[in-house]
Amino acid sequence: FELERLGIHDSVAMVFPPAELAEYLADLPVEVAVIGDDEISACDAVVTMEHRDAFLEVEWVHSIQAGVDRFPFDEFEANDVILTNSTGIHDRTVGETVAGYLLMFARRLHDHVANQQDRRWERPEWDAAFTLAGSTACVVGTGTLGTGAAETLGGLGLRVTGVRRSGDHVPGFDEVYSNDRLLEAISGADFVIVTVPLTDETRHLFDADAFDAMRDDAYFVNVSRGPVVDEPALIDALEADALAGAALDVFEEEPLPEESPLWGMDEVIVSPHCAAYTRDYFRDTGDIVRENVDRLADGAAFRNRVV
Ligand code: NDP
Repeated sequence: FELERLGIHDSVAMVFPPAELAEYLADLPVEVAVIGDDEISACDAVVTMEHRDAFLEVEWVHSIQAGVDRFPFDEFEANDVILTNSTGIHDRTVGETVAGYLLMFARRLHDHVANQQDRRWERPEWDAAFTLAGSTACVVGTGTLGTGAAETLGGLGLRVTGVRRSGDHVPGFDEVYSNDRLLEAISGADFVIVTVPLTDETRHLFDADAFDAMRDDAYFVNVSRGPVVDEPALIDALEADALAGAALDVFEEEPLPEESPLWGMDEVIVSPHCAAYTRDYFRDTGDIVRENVDRLADGAAFRNRVV
């Protein structure tokens, strides 16, 4: 198709100012403009955060997120709309966020932040703190996020295992399991970190059986998508002390409802779906868009094509 007008949908404002990306891409040989819902039909392609039905009329939609579970793949396919995503850019950001959660738990930093709110000078129990060096983490999903987490945690001295469908080795991991051995893989780890996409196969992958398989003193981290976890089963496990704690960036319902018990748990860290945030986000995602505009001009296949 002929690309003449590329719209930056204003829903990207949830992650960065749309004008920053429009300016970053201003030197492309096509018109680039920030658009609202009423201007979608005037574009050949759109860069977006959210889905709109009007996207079925354009030629190409690029998601600024790696997770594209909110887009209706069948309808895109039926309408010949290309969908690309932003996988490949979130390795360092999410890897460092995950390392941060683990450091908070191991070094008890979250307790100090909580105590500081009450001006309370209170040292941890003598046996509460430990070091990450010598601990083990099992990362479920060995793609961009998983590899970023493995490399960052490996640098801190953890032993890192991975789980993926094929079970094939991935650089940065000490050992990789196939997903039919998930329960075995997570059973020995001090930390279990979820980095899989949300698919029919991964919905509620972490259920009561998975939390049962984990050690009672293990921490659970979810930076993928809320529905990968059966949230009531996680809450039950935390309340029963069948897990040591959890760091959660994503939830079955977002924003996390005010009445969720997760907000009030001492050993739970809640972050508002921002594990990948960085002031470079518009540049990172813009580089994928730029590459695909070039590829389109050369008649080459798109990078990160999902549909
Ligand atoms: P990738 O496609 O790079 O990696 C996905 C990995 O998951 C692959 O290693 C794949 O390996 C594995 N996988 C897929 N299905 C299964 C399964 N059933 N069981 C076990 N492993 C599986 O994606 P990204 O790393 O870029 O992103 C992953 C997800 O993280 C996104 O889809 C998104 O939902 C979420 N995300 C969240 C962010 C946040 O802000 N919290 C930021 C960015 C992404 P294999 O093919 O061998 O199975």
